[in-house]
Amino acid sequence: MNPTQSWHDRAAALTLDGRAFINGQRTTSASGETFDKHSPIDGRRLAPIARGQTADIDAAVASARAAFEDGRWAHQPPAARKKVLQRFAELILSHRDELALLETLDMGKPIQFSRSVDVPAAARTIAWYAEAIDKVYDEIAPTGRNALALITREAMGVVGVIVPWNYPMIMAAWKLGPALATGNSVVMKPSEKSPLTALRLAEIALEAGLPPGVFNVVPGFGHEAGEALALHMDVDAIGFTGSTRTGRRMLDYAGRSNLKRVYNELGGKSAFLVFPDHRDPAKAARTVASSLFFNQGESCNAPSRVLVHASIADEFVANVTAQMPGWQPADPLDPATVMGALVDEGQMRTVLGYIDAGRAEGAVCHGGERVRTESGGFYVQPTVFDHATNDMRIAREEVFGPVMSVIRFETEEEAVRLANATPYGLQASVWSHDLNRAHRVARALRAGTVHVNQYDEDDITVPFGGYKQSGNGRDKSLHALEKYTELKTTWLRL
Ligand code: NAD
Repeated sequence: MNPTQSWHDRAAALTLDGRAFINGQRTTSASGETFDKHSPIDGRRLAPIARGQTADIDAAVASARAAFEDGRWAHQPPAARKKVLQRFAELILSHRDELALLETLDMGKPIQFSRSVDVPAAARTIAWYAEAIDKVYDEIAPTGRNALALITREAMGVVGVIVPWNYPMIMAAWKLGPALATGNSVVMKPSEKSPLTALRLAEIALEAGLPPGVFNVVPGFGHEAGEALALHMDVDAIGFTGSTRTGRRMLDYAGRSNLKRVYNELGGKSAFLVFPDHRDPAKAARTVASSLFFNQGESCNAPSRVLVHASIADEFVANVTAQMPGWQPADPLDPATVMGALVDEGQMRTVLGYIDAGRAEGAVCHGGERVRTESGGFYVQPTVFDHATNDMRIAREEVFGPVMSVIRFETEEEAVRLANATPYGLQASVWSHDLNRAHRVARALRAGTVHVNQYDEDDITVPFGGYKQSGNGRDKSLHALEKYTELKTTWLRL
């Protein structure tokens, strides 16, 4: 059978369950209300999803609290939690095709990447925190002979997790790994645009041996289930990933409720700086195209502002546009597809609106059209705006689609100033073979991650997060373990 048809057949055979997962069981929402989830691939209705509201969040938080208090997870020795989480990671991998399919149906990314990137990355994250947790020691303060001060880290209790739709499984795993490994219970509110994999992950975690109540998932809308979770008086921390606008709300909710800890991982407008002393500008062009167009441009760290020295800009733009035919949107269920559908019609309209704005403000547009309209899905061509300036909307605001702005500069100082002239500070990339310049510019850039002569290296061992309005937390690495713990000092007189 042809491989695309085979994925379509498997998709048609899937049973999609949009009910919430509370205290180890599937459950309809307290109100009985649902909302329809449509496929970005062809616009068809996929499944009814439980419309979680305050009563459902209350039930999920109560079950998470009960599970935390009775110690069925938190009081297990780290080595025991490790075993369960390792099994969870193994089961994620053994459900690879099913989870990849759900992810692709939910948010439109190509099936080959759901299989080769998203599912393995989620499993690796859980496995890495499982491995880490019995290798972390507490401390004894150097207080002298007459007293002993133990400095220990304890689980916080109930962690609320609110995640976006662009990498639903990976974002869930980045929060779940450290929160569960340190002994917390979790209530997760996935995006209303992509709830299916989180719900399935909760079932798989139960199968792996995670006690009921430790990991609950309540789907629903941000202003209903999300707000109820972030305002809840019995939630100790919120691990949030999403837009800067909603991140502000998270801080406000915490201020209006119990001052819960808020860890915000927010938007970006990452700069990619190409200097004329780089020996292989064509490689820089290939890298920026693949980094931006991957995931349909729906990545927080997409290098969407490309700053190129004026002397090489024409050649650079020619090299980037030469990459565009290789990134034409196609059926996400075709295993050869590299660019899929935007998540929904609203997102497509937003992206097309930015493209209109870029044209109206005078940048030169390559690409920029909606395609595959006959499919009923939401597809936009890879788009490159040449002769953009940093004050245009396409260069200032997060488009969250396959749209690149190329801005020309004359001097290193100007390049650094333009790169930093943004409220965001998630990532940046410097392309130069002048060692001094590469170090100097990397230091001057106000971003949580700076790449030199590359963009795609990534690893669970390094922190991920931003300066400025890109957030206040860090996901991944051992640093994320600390987020979901409280620091306790215990004095003992000797
Ligand atoms: P969003 O802020 O609209 O939604 C994120 C989550 O918050 C969703 O689950 C949503 O339902 C919920 N939400 C929305 N309004 C809410 C409210 N009033 N109260 C409580 N919850 C609410 O973001 P999005 O469109 O889903 O995701 C895209 C954004 O996420 C982009 O800005 C992107 O840069 C960012 N992002 C950041 C990172 C990172 O690690 N820094 C990673 C991925 C995505």
